[in-house]
Amino acid sequence: MTAYDFAIIGGGIIGLSTGMALGQRYPDARILVLEKEKSWAFHQTGHNSGVIHSGIYYKPGSLKAKLGREGNLSMVEFCQRHGIEYEVCGKVIVATKPQELPLLENLYQRGLTNELDVRKISLVELKEIEPHVSGLAGIHVPSTGIVNYKQVAETFARLIREQGGTLQLNMKVEKIIENGQGVVIESNNGPFQTSFLINCAGLQSDRLAKLGQAKTPMKIVPFRGEYYDLKPEKHYLVKNLIYPVPNPNFPFLGVHFTRMMGGGVHAGPNAVLSFKREGYKKTDFDLRDFVEVMTYPAFWKLAGHNWNEGAKEIIRSFSKTAFVRSMQQLIPEIQADDVVPGPAGVRAQALMADGRLMDDFLIISGRNSIHICNAPSPAATASIEIGKAVVERIAEQHHLKGTFG
Ligand SMILES: Cc1cc2nc3c(=O)[nH]c(=O)nc-3n(C[C@H](O)[C@H](O)[C@H](O)COP(=O)(O)OP(=O)(O)OC[C@H]3O[C@@H](n4cnc5c(N)ncnc54)[C@H](O)[C@@H]3O)c2cc1C
Repeated sequence: MTAYDFAIIGGGIIGLSTGMALGQRYPDARILVLEKEKSWAFHQTGHNSGVIHSGIYYKPGSLKAKLGREGNLSMVEFCQRHGIEYEVCGKVIVATKPQELPLLENLYQRGLTNELDVRKISLVELKEIEPHVSGLAGIHVPSTGIVNYKQVAETFARLIREQGGTLQLNMKVEKIIENGQGVVIESNNGPFQTSFLINCAGLQSDRLAKLGQAKTPMKIVPFRGEYYDLKPEKHYLVKNLIYPVPNPNFPFLGVHFTRMMGGGVHAGPNAVLSFKREGYKKTDFDLRDFVEVMTYPAFWKLAGHNWNEGAKEIIRSFSKTAFVRSMQQLIPEIQADDVVPGPAGVRAQALMADGRLMDDFLIISGRNSIHICNAPSPAATASIEIGKAVVERIAEQHHLKGTFG
C-alpha cells in the first residue's frame, strides 16, 4: 500500500484547491486526491452559476466575507495567469418593492464595511447598465465577474499533477480507519494509507466526517437550484448580472439573471429541498437521503419557522408561471415563452443541530484529519483562499515543518 502524507477526499473545486495549496506549501509531500466520479467538478462545482462573487452579502468578520473578498481577487489573478476566460462585468442589485429599500441600504452599508467598491446608482444609471430592468433603487458592484468553474477546477488538477501529486478518479471512499501511522482509507478500488486526511466531499461531507469519527454538530441538507435559460433571441434583455435583494434570513440570493461565460443567460436558481443529495431532476428520490432529512429534528425546527418560504419555493419549482413571475419582478417584459427549462445544481448546505442554517463556511478538525463541512456559495469564488486557509490550519494544529518524503 503506497503511503501518502496528505489524502484529500473529493475532486471538486475545494478538494483540488486544497491539493494545489498543499503542493505549494510542501513541495516534497506525497499528495493524493480521490474522487468517486469519472471526472473532476462533477457535482456542485460543475453545476453552478459561474459567478465570481464580490463578497458583499456576507457578515463582516465572517470567513465568507474575508475569503470571498480575497478570493475574488485571487480567482481573477489565477485566471489571468493560466489563460482561463473570465470577465469582470459587474452586477446590479435592485430593490423592486418599498419594503426592500431598507434591506438594500443594509446591503450597501455591508459592502462598505467589507471594503468593497460599491455604489448607489440612480434609476437613469440603472437603465444605462441594464436597459430592461425596472426597480425602485439599485446598487452597482463592479468587482463581480463570471467564469467557468469546471475549467478552473481542471486547471487546479493539472497543477497538482505537475507538482507530483496523485489524482485518482472513480475512487469512492467507503471507510476511514485511524491507526498508529495515521489513517487508512478504504475505497471501492483498494486501500490507501495517509498521515493526514482532508475531507472535501461536498454533499457527502457530513457522512465522510462521521466515518472519520469527527464530531459534527450538523447534517448536510441538499437544496436543489433550478434554472431556466433565456432563448437566444431574448439574450438582449440581460447585459450582465441582475440580482434581487435577497431575504436576509436565508443564505440564498433569490432568482437572478446571469450571463454565462460560454454564452447563454440563466435565470435562477431557486432553492428547493431535494429528496436526493445528488439528484438533479425534480423526480429524483433516494430513500436513505430522504429518511435522513425527515428524521433529523433540526429539519423540522427549520421547516416550522419557514414553512411559508418553503411552500413558495415548491410552488415556484413546479409552476413555470410562478418562476416567471419572480423574473418579472426584475424584468417586467419577460414572458413564459422567452425561457426554457435549463440545468440544475444541488447545494450542500449544513443544517446545525439547533435548526440554524449554517451561515458561514465550517471547517472541523479531527485528530489526523480536517473536514470541510459547509462550503456553499461563494466557496467557488473563494476556493483558492479556502485551500490556503485549510493548509494554514493544518500547519498550525499539527506543527508541520516544510519537509516530507
Ligand atoms: C446551483 C448553484 C449555484 C452556485 N453558484 C455559485 C456561484 O455563482 N459562485 C460561487 O462562488 N459559488 C456558487 N455555488 C457554490 C459552489 O458551486 C460550491 O460552493 C463549490 O462548488 C463547492 O465545492 P466542493 O468542492 O466543496 O464541492 P463539490 O464540487 O460538490 O465536490 C465534492 C466532491 O466530492 C466527491 N465525493 C463525495 N463523496 C465522496 C467519496 N465517498 N469518495 C470520493 N469522492 C467523494 C464528489 O463526487 C464531488 O466531486 C453554487 C452552487 C450551486 C449548487
